[in-house]
Amino acid sequence: MNMELTLKGKTAIVTGAASGIGKEIAETFARAGANVAIADLNGDGTQAVAAAIVADGGSAMGVTMDVTSEDAVNSATQQVVDKYGAVDILISNAGIQIVNPIEEYAFSDWKKMLAIHLDGAFLTTKAAISSMYKDNRGGVIIYMGSVHSHEASPLKSAYVTAKHGLLGLARVIAKEGAAHGVRSHVICPGFVRTPLVEKQIPEQAKELGISEEDVVRNVMLKDTVDGEFTTTEDIANLALFLSAFPSAALTGQSIVASHGWCMI
Ligand code: NAD
Repeated sequence: MNMELTLKGKTAIVTGAASGIGKEIAETFARAGANVAIADLNGDGTQAVAAAIVADGGSAMGVTMDVTSEDAVNSATQQVVDKYGAVDILISNAGIQIVNPIEEYAFSDWKKMLAIHLDGAFLTTKAAISSMYKDNRGGVIIYMGSVHSHEASPLKSAYVTAKHGLLGLARVIAKEGAAHGVRSHVICPGFVRTPLVEKQIPEQAKELGISEEDVVRNVMLKDTVDGEFTTTEDIANLALFLSAFPSAALTGQSIVASHGWCMI
């Protein structure tokens, strides 16, 4: 039997969904039939994305959520359970980037990076998984890693550390969650032209003393097979495939989508 790429009847929380990759995943999941909770620090953004999905005939709600705050994560998750009854899919995607050489990397920036990427992954997992464990309902938890879950680049100590850490968390959740039907993965994109990357281009040009064009061609896309950016659509389609996959044959995996920059 062919696998059907449907999420009909499922409820998904997507963090960082007011922008970029998260927004595309939310829109794709809504088209696949899911109820989607757009969770983001940017409250106006969550409402705008949810309203656009609803205007398109989908089912969505916006919830303001700072993924570093246990109270905010728990109360936003409860709002989703109250409205839709359960959480079946968590896409832990919210993230930022701060680039600096290690000797200039502020400890406060390091802690902020780990809080958003790792505390955020932990807190959203803990909040969503209790709904997935209830009556062994099961579910899927996907962390937004990066090629930097496997490779290192200069200036990105905190980001590379955090993205490597998500591999460990996903593997533990795959093992702990198995008895309850919960699967877990890390998606590892190459460079995707979102606001997060647009911000880095001038910053890296300044740090490395090269032009912005050289940052794109000779730093970001240098090791791809075709000099192409990965797109938000590529990542959303991958998230849909992993979320709709019908068995635990696929769990605890890291899937890299990077135009061949990273091959593992
Ligand atoms: P983006 O800047 O377009 O979107 C990130 C979203 O996260 C924003 O809407 C922002 O408000 C939200 N956010 C930030 N801090 C938050 C917090 N504390 N709580 C809740 N929401 C918060 O970025 P993007 O490129 O779409 O990145 C999404 C994820 O993909 C990140 O985890 C990033 O590390 C990862 N990623 C991006 C790329 C890329 O090239 N763009 C590559 C690999 C991995």
